[in-house]
Amino acid sequence: MRRDPLRDAVEKLRRDFPGKSHSWIKRALLRLGDVREVRDGLYLVEGRRELGDWKPLYQVWFSNADRRWYCSCYLTQFGLRRRRDICTHVAAVLLFRRYKKALERVQHRRVYIAEAEVERRQKIAANGELYLKPVRSLPLFASPRYRVFVISEERRIVIKCGGYVVAEAEGEEVPLATAKFLAESYES
Ligand SMILES: [Zn+2]
Repeated sequence: MRRDPLRDAVEKLRRDFPGKSHSWIKRALLRLGDVREVRDGLYLVEGRRELGDWKPLYQVWFSNADRRWYCSCYLTQFGLRRRRDICTHVAAVLLFRRYKKALERVQHRRVYIAEAEVERRQKIAANGELYLKPVRSLPLFASPRYRVFVISEERRIVIKCGGYVVAEAEGEEVPLATAKFLAESYES
């Protein structure tokens, strides 16, 4: 459930451009932090000397007329040169766009959460990410008790202790970001 949005974005770029080398992907990745979105379809990419750039800034845009991406590095004294190849400024923009989408998907993903208090005799487990917080002010002889918080992809949340079900609940559906925020007061 802990999918990395950047990994997703890179994989998608690889799939969309199967003929591209590892170094092409790597250069796009190196440029990821240099991309600024002006608006959808228009981007600025800072130049990097170590990647062979000779300008401080490149403009990358999508042409609706011929449905393709252009970069100001395609400009020559004769005008815009049509390239069969895609420069890594454009690649960086494509990666940026995929990364942004993947991030949004993660942020908006819905998960289920449940909370319970259990006595810990043995190892506590659940069908999701488990967070624990000890319950204080107990008599010395008692087994330690814990507040348990679970983030799960399944609606029905089951908490087990030593293999036995000790709590079961219908999880509450919330965005993943909310669940992570609520989990912050617990230890993972
Ligand atoms: Zn370029």
